[in-house]
Amino acid sequence: MHVEENKLLAPLTTFGVGGPARWLVEAATEADIVEASTWARERGLPLFVLGGGSNLLVSDAGFDGLVLHIALQGLSVRDAPPVPGQPPQRILRAAAGEDWNNCIEQSLKASWAGIECLAGIPGTVGGTPVQNVGAYGQEVSSVIDRVRAFDLAGRAFVELSAAECGFSYRRSRFNSTDRGRFIVTRVDYRLTPGGAPTLSYPDVRRAIEADRGAGGEPTLAEVATAVRHIRQSKGMLIVPGDPDCRSAGSFFKNPIVSRDHFQRIAALSATEPPHFPTGAGLDHAERFKIPAAWLIEQAGFAKGYRLGNAGISKRHTLALVNLGPTGFGATAAEILALANKIAAAVENRFGIRLEREPVLVGSQ
Ligand SMILES: Cc1cc2nc3c(=O)[nH]c(=O)nc-3n(C[C@H](O)[C@H](O)[C@H](O)COP(=O)(O)OP(=O)(O)OC[C@H]3O[C@@H](n4cnc5c(N)ncnc54)[C@H](O)[C@@H]3O)c2cc1C
Repeated sequence: MHVEENKLLAPLTTFGVGGPARWLVEAATEADIVEASTWARERGLPLFVLGGGSNLLVSDAGFDGLVLHIALQGLSVRDAPPVPGQPPQRILRAAAGEDWNNCIEQSLKASWAGIECLAGIPGTVGGTPVQNVGAYGQEVSSVIDRVRAFDLAGRAFVELSAAECGFSYRRSRFNSTDRGRFIVTRVDYRLTPGGAPTLSYPDVRRAIEADRGAGGEPTLAEVATAVRHIRQSKGMLIVPGDPDCRSAGSFFKNPIVSRDHFQRIAALSATEPPHFPTGAGLDHAERFKIPAAWLIEQAGFAKGYRLGNAGISKRHTLALVNLGPTGFGATAAEILALANKIAAAVENRFGIRLEREPVLVGSQ
């Protein structure tokens, strides 16, 4: 096992912000994961699992413990056990360190439906179940069959079904009740050969029409291409040299509110807030998702807003960006100062506390 010392984390993240890891190990096998976690435990060190670094804000002081960088590789395919009344499905089995977009490419090449709208989300396979990645009408939880992980509590490998992962909007047991307990080593995605693409978002339908003209059913690949075009137009696709993608994607989650709360928000604004029904909550009452970007704009922040070296993307109000090169741009403190200013303004205006999406690493 090769342990690196004082390894700068900023270049390992899409934000390009943050100090060093006191120790860093790259894990290429499950055995590396066991060995590295034992090494950290014997020294009483905190452990942080790093994937593609696309959903992180690392503190300026860095992380005073062991960062375990997941580099397990490998993709394979098998038939899914048949389910009566359902079309035959295939399992795409991916190691946690694989680039998520390799899975997308594999599924598009074989015409397997289920993840075409998740094209262009950066990061690794291991990161996908953590916040149940989602975009343009799909969430990865709807295709996850099993997650294999090392359970630090029981010090054994476990296989969790989708139901055991506790998925909901941008949430799973991995980022909530069992945060820090599991190290994901592999994910099985259950995909549908020849299945129809998901076209529930008007933006996606419009982009497809712009790409290919109206009429006929688009292919999965055409949908993925349209999604990537939309993402790029919003600075939500990692394109080297594009200053608007030096971010962690959306900095805030879209709040989900009750009908009463929605009506109070509507009463406070000149135009009706955009809103999407999300189904009933545990209390069976209706719930609505309100775009955080709309709330932020209504609270007085526009695209391109700047506070020191931190800013709001010129192409999407929900992305906070590092306005400078890695190591010389924004500090984590500047990004958080901007985030706090925005959240306070939204709370003052609408009584909604925005929830941060990226994970904070190290003490801020
Ligand atoms: C431009 C841009 C656009 C984005 N668009 C979207 C979007 O549309 N939808 C969306 O949902 N997200 C989006 N994101 C956020 C991000 O890409 C996803 O959350 C991604 O899945 C994070 O994966 P990662 O490998 O980079 O994880 P990291 O950022 O490295 O880690 C994120 C969290 O997951 C944990 N983690 C990572 N790997 C493992 C593992 N193997 N085992 C256990 N824990 C692990 C980490 O400890 C950390 O808590 C976007 C980000 C960017 C920069």
